Amino acid sequence: TDVAIKRALLSVSDKAGIVELGGKLAKAGVQLVSTGGTARTLRDAGLDVLDVSDITDFPEMMDGRVKTLHPMVHGGLLAVRDNEDHTAAMDAHDIGAIDLLVVNLYPFEETVARGASRDEIVENIDIGGPAMVRSASKNHQFVTIVTDPSDYDELTTELAEHDGATTQAFRTRMAAKAFAKTASYDAAIANWFAFGDAYTNPLGAEALKATPFVEKMPLAFSKKDELRYGENPHQTAAVYLPQNAGVQGVPQAVQVQGKELSYNNYNDADAALELVAEFAGGDPAVVIVKHANPCGVAQASTLLEAWQQALACDSVSAFGGIVAVNRPLDGPTAQAICEIFTEVVIAPGADDAAREAFAAKKNLRLLLIEDFPQADREGFQIKTIAGGMLMQSRDNGVIGADDLKVVTKRQPSEQEVADALFAWKVAKHVKSNAIVYAKDGVTAGIGAGQMNRRDSSRIAAVRAAEAAEAAGWDAPRTKGSAVASDAFFPFADGLLSAVEAGATMVIQPGGSMRDDEVIAAADEAGIAMVFTGMRHFRH
Ligand code: 5GP
Repeated sequence: TDVAIKRALLSVSDKAGIVELGGKLAKAGVQLVSTGGTARTLRDAGLDVLDVSDITDFPEMMDGRVKTLHPMVHGGLLAVRDNEDHTAAMDAHDIGAIDLLVVNLYPFEETVARGASRDEIVENIDIGGPAMVRSASKNHQFVTIVTDPSDYDELTTELAEHDGATTQAFRTRMAAKAFAKTASYDAAIANWFAFGDAYTNPLGAEALKATPFVEKMPLAFSKKDELRYGENPHQTAAVYLPQNAGVQGVPQAVQVQGKELSYNNYNDADAALELVAEFAGGDPAVVIVKHANPCGVAQASTLLEAWQQALACDSVSAFGGIVAVNRPLDGPTAQAICEIFTEVVIAPGADDAAREAFAAKKNLRLLLIEDFPQADREGFQIKTIAGGMLMQSRDNGVIGADDLKVVTKRQPSEQEVADALFAWKVAKHVKSNAIVYAKDGVTAGIGAGQMNRRDSSRIAAVRAAEAAEAAGWDAPRTKGSAVASDAFFPFADGLLSAVEAGATMVIQPGGSMRDDEVIAAADEAGIAMVFTGMRHFRH
């Protein structure tokens, strides 16, 4: 049923459009009630306004923390108009009905975003506003709520079309919007507590660090970009960022040129960036990713050489790949990358010659980032399943030479340890089951995503053999290589196929029931093996 608007309470932080709306309401004979700043704005425009403090018979106090939190206000918003008890209470306490509430809240998110102090942020947590919004929305059978200045026009149209009243449909729709607003407002506050800048955060840096990441589920996300489509053309997609959590990774990148990033581009560029970030600050490194798996990774004395080596690992798969590098791009490297079809290049910079080389490839997306996401940082991962979602802290395990336990009779050489750690870093970023051969800072063969470890080993060896054939090498680079396995070898067969491919060093987590068997096989083959004690499943 239609409800006529006789009295309206206006209390807005964002004063845009409020004078115009107040004028139209006054002209329609609506009595205006307002809080301090809003009342002043309306009066300055020559409108007649009643102060909330006159209704409550209480002054606004405590720096505005307490303005409208009063039964005279909430009774007027919450009373069920056709309930005799409620109307009797209104009469007994002289509570006037409030038919329309126009509120927008203290700008909490904007205050956090502009880097305000902790006290300012806290002061911008609106209390009375959301309380009124919730009261009015709950009572949407009788009360009209408007929380968005962009709805003022619709409100005045509604009133004009219904003889100064609103329809139930309008009130319900606006109430739904209002509850969504207070929910996201509180979510933004919760996000600030969970992720906010350690300097302004009330929890303090220590407590922030101590909270297990999965307990810091971001509640508020905002849409950054709509994407043309999802993984497939019939899927819709968008990029969302958690509010107040800082922008990192691919969303932080500046796109210098090329087509719009697709869903798959985001996914692959992220995989490439996360892997190359493991080499941040190290020798020049290049990562080539296809379908979120690396197909070539190399570290060398120059970026150009690293590119050539990474490409040689699997030049077939590299076609249409995503390339990430750990230092600013130079002209010769950019030119070499342009020789094959590449979807995305992501780098911490590009000199003029590099930019010029890429400019000739109009579609190639060049992304520049300011800094690398830290490999050992905290973070969360979300995966949806039918009916719910799984959440976990990200795999931020990083190990060094000191963490390795030699389990074989033969001790590895220094070069073997270096190759093993390189292969291990890469294997962490390969979908399971992952087998990665590496030699002299270059992946020799990568086996990804197979349902058993032996098949991944075989595929890696086959790739290595094909690479040798394509490049005209005497032998595949698996000869004399180190091989990494993301999880333990459940049987000796996986290890034996690595030995067959020429590996002289194995790095794996260990921990299998048959470790003894696997160690014995390694000893028999005369190779070295180390256990990391850490697994890197990635599905
Ligand atoms: P004004 O500029 O009119 O003085 O204040 C308007 C703002 O105050 C609105 O954003 C409204 O949500 C907020 N507000 C209204 N009542 C209360 C209250 O009782 N406590 C607090 N903290 N904010 C209120």
